[in-house]
Amino acid sequence: MSGEDGGAWQIVHVPGRPPVPPDQQLTVNVVAAQIEQPKLTNTIIRRLSQIAPLEDLHHVKRVKKKCIEGGQIQLSVILCLAPENGDFDGIPCDVKDVINSYQLSPFVAKVCKYAASSKEEWVEQCKLWPTSYHPPTYNISGITGFSEEDSQSVVSFMKYALELAKSHGNVVVNAAAIVDPLSNQVIARACDEVCSLQTPKTEASAECGGPGQVKTSISCLHPRWWVDEQTGRSSSFCHPLRHAAIVAIESSAARDRRLFPDVRYKDESTIEECVLSPANSQVKRQKTDANDVDNDDKNDTAYGNGDLSSRPYLCTGNDIYLVWEPCIMCAMALVHQRIRRVFYACPNPSAGALGSVHRLQGEKSLNHHYAVFRVVVPQDVLDKVELSMISGS
Ligand SMILES: [Zn+2]
Repeated sequence: MSGEDGGAWQIVHVPGRPPVPPDQQLTVNVVAAQIEQPKLTNTIIRRLSQIAPLEDLHHVKRVKKKCIEGGQIQLSVILCLAPENGDFDGIPCDVKDVINSYQLSPFVAKVCKYAASSKEEWVEQCKLWPTSYHPPTYNISGITGFSEEDSQSVVSFMKYALELAKSHGNVVVNAAAIVDPLSNQVIARACDEVCSLQTPKTEASAECGGPGQVKTSISCLHPRWWVDEQTGRSSSFCHPLRHAAIVAIESSAARDRRLFPDVRYKDESTIEECVLSPANSQVKRQKTDANDVDNDDKNDTAYGNGDLSSRPYLCTGNDIYLVWEPCIMCAMALVHQRIRRVFYACPNPSAGALGSVHRLQGEKSLNHHYAVFRVVVPQDVLDKVELSMISGS
């Protein structure tokens, strides 16, 4: 998409697994057998699904149909996972009973380990053994997958986040904007909280990014700086917990409590103040973005009827725009919040949780998964917000 800025914005889906060429997908071995009498197929499958369910291979079809000469159909069934050493003696006894009862001739076959994430992958998978394919509910083919209106909206919210990151004067910080896509409103925004010692021990310039990264205080890039660094070395440093995404979540929760107050807890505002106070009395926060947003809701007519039953459940359905890819702590907080989509502009090669180092969005054991997109920002826009030096672009 070519914008008024003279560059090309791109929205690139970041899948839950590193992309591999469709013909080089990971496979696992299974033990399969041909079924000579098709009328026995259902009975055999029922028995097998009781004694040898294919727990991690839900995408793999149990039966393979193949047309052979004369228009006949040959059926093969997966009996179980192949024993690790490839020795059929390792096949579970129950499955051996099925083999013997129906006089089957087992053989080893390969199936794809993970469900296909694209049609191209699925076509390749079916060459080995048929699988099912469920296209994602959102379009993932880059910016062409978004409508023109959607892509413009994504670009404008990312610009908003970039401007926010710039608003901290000469200290570069990460910025987060939580957006309700239904009302197209920013409902919470925040920057990394940078703390200053009240009585600086040195005149050192503000730096948290390690040697060579002057005047950057991007918490998610170095989430463990406080473990590695000698305390008191810098006059300015990132709060170990109050990363932009975390503070934005807190601000969104405060907004919900304010717009949908719970009369059972009259003192919620007092609790809020306690939470917002810095834990360390030695430090002073330069700016409290969570408080800034509070004033924005005075004109908010979309909500504010005070009906507790309509209080949103966390950030369900909302999107978040971040200038830098979040660290594990922030990415996990966004899972807990039930965020719908995460957009970030700059990869985080040292600690990124959504593509650069880890891929939390592909972690099967989690109970919520959001879609992740990188928004590639044109160079001239980065130059304008003075982020090009440290964005890695
Ligand atoms: Zn973080």
